[in-house]
Amino acid sequence: MGDPVLHAPADAVDTITDEIRTLVADMFETMDAAPGVGLAAPQVGVGLRIYTYAYIDEDDAPWRGVIINPELWMVPLDPGAPDEDEESEGCLSFPGERFPLRRSNRVRVTGIDLDGAPVAIDVDGWRARIMQHEFDHLDGIIYVDRLDDRDWKTAQKIAKKRGWGRPGNQWMPGVDHLED
Ligand code: ZN
Repeated sequence: MGDPVLHAPADAVDTITDEIRTLVADMFETMDAAPGVGLAAPQVGVGLRIYTYAYIDEDDAPWRGVIINPELWMVPLDPGAPDEDEESEGCLSFPGERFPLRRSNRVRVTGIDLDGAPVAIDVDGWRARIMQHEFDHLDGIIYVDRLDDRDWKTAQKIAKKRGWGRPGNQWMPGVDHLED
């Protein structure tokens, strides 16, 4: 979370090159190894507007993909306090922690896939949360930036204690084991 690439808006992808295809393959591998439900290019040090996502729940087939140059629309947030059990969120760039965060329950994301074909995704619930979380990364926003004051302060203390303010800090999913 100390790395500047995580706190700056990412650039649009102009052309889908072999380099981009390799990056996306690496992102899927990293996301699965973590394991995570989403991964944005800035989280692997690349300031481009790309994210991968993957989510499975009990009833449905696996849902996974990549979206390039996304745009996001959401229905307004429901008012009310976050439910800490139902709505806690985590991030591979702030590993080992979760905090409650209210998100819109329904979103539409449009963009292109790796072949440059248009994609439109209409989702709700956890899938909508994943879309909002990953989209935020492309605008230089980490979910802890959106926490209420009390949780934000707690998160800052944790980050300070673990030395996460330094640029260049990283961990390797599947190799490094994080302590809680
Ligand atoms: Zn994240």
